Amino acid sequence: MSFSIYPNRGAMLMGKRDISVLDVHTLLSYPDSVLVDVAYCGLCGSDLQQWLWGGVGNRIINFPKSIGHEASGTIELDGESVRVAISPSSRACGTCSYCMSGRSNLCSFAIYMGASDAGAMRQKAGVSERQLFPIPDSISLKDAVLIEPLAVAIHAVRLVHSFAPSILVVGLGGIGRLIIEAAHAEMTTEIWASDILDYRVRMLPPYATRYNGQAQVDVAFDAAGTDRSLAECLSAVKPGGTVVVVGIPASENICYNPHQARIKEVNIIHSRRFCDEFPKAIQMVASGRANLSGIVTHTFPLEKVQEAFETAAHYRDGVLRAVIEMPGVHNG
Ligand SMILES: [Zn+2]
Ligand SMILES: [Zn+2]
Repeated sequence: MSFSIYPNRGAMLMGKRDISVLDVHTLLSYPDSVLVDVAYCGLCGSDLQQWLWGGVGNRIINFPKSIGHEASGTIELDGESVRVAISPSSRACGTCSYCMSGRSNLCSFAIYMGASDAGAMRQKAGVSERQLFPIPDSISLKDAVLIEPLAVAIHAVRLVHSFAPSILVVGLGGIGRLIIEAAHAEMTTEIWASDILDYRVRMLPPYATRYNGQAQVDVAFDAAGTDRSLAECLSAVKPGGTVVVVGIPASENICYNPHQARIKEVNIIHSRRFCDEFPKAIQMVASGRANLSGIVTHTFPLEKVQEAFETAAHYRDGVLRAVIEMPGVHNG
């Protein structure tokens, strides 16, 4: 295939607290590249960190920066329009020790859309065909932006190898809410949840309960990444239990009480992105085992992307997950 460039409109981070919509160019730069008409792109906590302070985790970014890694859209295939969710991960080598042992999320060759590659918060994305996963009609294009964070949640849940009858999830943003869905789908029966934002606790599904500060659980998921959330997890986990730190904490360091962890011999593990969980996430939703309703709370047109970030940053208006809608007609 020849090298192709498609002009379109996209969101670019221009500086701290500054995101603009500009004319951008989408490249089809690999032999297996496919052009996707993006319908929706989710606004993740990691996007928000970059907007807030110009970095994510311990990595400073360079402006201008193209972002967006939770996206859905359509491709043309044999004259037909096919609805797809886009996996942001590509180019894992398939031959290194990590790839060979099923840990492609740790492959040093892997590229992540919106991090080490152009993002999908734009009208047209150029991605490898291996990043495209058709979705059934039962999943709307808007909800399909949640397939990526659901894959992250499933990865975190499955890192704890044994079945956990009881869990606590601390931090009820998109990832925390989806950990509840993934754990519920995996037959966890006792699900506790907490967040310093009370409105997010009030949005819980019926199979999750506001944490009472007393119950002891097999596994605690820290989806907030602060001293306070880790302390709550360490306090809630049973002796011999596991704490899983999920996602990217916003601070450089987290402090915890080592005695609290030591006396109970707690396993503290970290979960990063996902491996082969993307198709499993689609299947989990299509089969009805995971329920995405009520998680996308706000939709902003591309031209109002700055307002979307301000709403998410200030937890305005009961926001849980905001998504950006690209111009054009997107059926479902
Ligand atoms: Zn994300
Ligand atoms: Zn590899």
